[in-house]
Amino acid sequence: MRAIPYQEFDLRREWKEGMKSTKYVIVGGGMVAGYAAKELVNRGLKSGELAIVSSENALPYERPPLSKGFLAGKDTEASILINSLEFYHNHGIHVKLGMAIESVDAKHKRVRTHSGEDFAFDSLLLATGARARSMDYPGRELRDVFYLRSLEDSRNLRASAATAKAAVVIGGGFIGMEVAAVLAQKDIQTTMIIRDDRVWSRFFTPEMSTFFERYYSTHGVRLVKEASIAALEGKGTVHPVLLVDGRRIPSDLVVAGIGAIPNTELLAKSGIALDNGVVVNEYLEASEPGVCAAGDAANYPDLIFEKRRRVEHWDNAISQGQHWAGIVLGDRQPFIHVPYFFSDVFNLSYEFWGDSSGATQTVVRGDTNASAFSVWWLKKNQVVAAFTMNHREEEREIAPEWIRNKQTVSPQRLTDQTRSIREAVQRPS
Ligand code: NAP
Repeated sequence: MRAIPYQEFDLRREWKEGMKSTKYVIVGGGMVAGYAAKELVNRGLKSGELAIVSSENALPYERPPLSKGFLAGKDTEASILINSLEFYHNHGIHVKLGMAIESVDAKHKRVRTHSGEDFAFDSLLLATGARARSMDYPGRELRDVFYLRSLEDSRNLRASAATAKAAVVIGGGFIGMEVAAVLAQKDIQTTMIIRDDRVWSRFFTPEMSTFFERYYSTHGVRLVKEASIAALEGKGTVHPVLLVDGRRIPSDLVVAGIGAIPNTELLAKSGIALDNGVVVNEYLEASEPGVCAAGDAANYPDLIFEKRRRVEHWDNAISQGQHWAGIVLGDRQPFIHVPYFFSDVFNLSYEFWGDSSGATQTVVRGDTNASAFSVWWLKKNQVVAAFTMNHREEEREIAPEWIRNKQTVSPQRLTDQTRSIREAVQRPS
């Protein structure tokens, strides 16, 4: 691959003076943009039709490695790019990096950057993503206190972890679970501080929490539950973390993963309907014509679960980015998709489909004391969510299929592992 610094790829060199205008403009240069661009190209995008305007200084990259392989030092910045620099050059896609959008004028179909440049569009995709929720504890401004959202965040955390002996991870969600695993594998004395009485009560059954707590403990992560932070202490750098109950937890670095907030401030005066993100319909269309939203910032109607949701996961960014590309090229299908996420921690890889809220029963296949099992959430015998970890391959295939088709099953037959899982399907009597 030809080595060209990203900053050199500046569309001002290629555009005439005055108003810049393209058929499609994507605001936000994250995963949605990377995969939407790829899909548009696959479907015949012409040179000069697409511009991506990004506040980041890197081409669209895969975000999952930031808390896994990249943080661990296994992936490189080049290896996590969604498309190479040549891809954008070769297909005439304008990519403007390091440029934040100040406002969107949906009526006149243009966006304005903080530096005063205007971009006109026929179709706009808002892929502004989300940002890390920040802490309000005293000491949050100390050195070696991190959030993890961008490549730059992960790069900085990785550098700090290279010399740290002790780390505190605040929050027991996706970032907390994944980062604690990476730090512990770097032989850093790692403590996770969570507010709840068990890990991930939002997704896990009590048995699953017990399994993960035991697994983390035997792999070197100390878990402090039902704890609140009073302050991050230290002079210059953070050391230690003070809990409300007076305990002090050693730390050379702190990582907070306490949730994410959709980036919609630039839309405040746009007239575009906002409510926990950009409100879109099943075609990902916002309230103003010619404007769509996708990814972390899109609040969309989930037609399977018949409720609105905003999903902050890799799979959703890809699926919605690709879906939008199809829609603007005339393939106007509703977005119907089973919510999904995956995670890799230590030597475990697990996946989750669906929505377990409102489930009335869970069925376990396998042994929750071992590292290989699946869990099925049922609502009146209808499969609404599934978790699999190192378990049978056919279960990975059947989980999204059943959830999408609102399949009802026999809980007794689902429990019976001497049979294929497919035999659990409830036949009409
Ligand atoms: P998250 O998964 O929503 O978890 C937030 C955690 O922080 C929860 O444990 C929550 O505890 C806790 N928390 C919230 N406010 C707190 C506070 N003020 N003080 C202490 N703890 C607090 O969010 P995240 O881990 O920060 O991840 C951010 C985003 O990155 C998520 O949207 C996620 O989807 C994405 N991500 C996804 C993956 C993946 O799909 N594998 C990996 C990494 C990141 P309570 O339960 O008590 O509220």
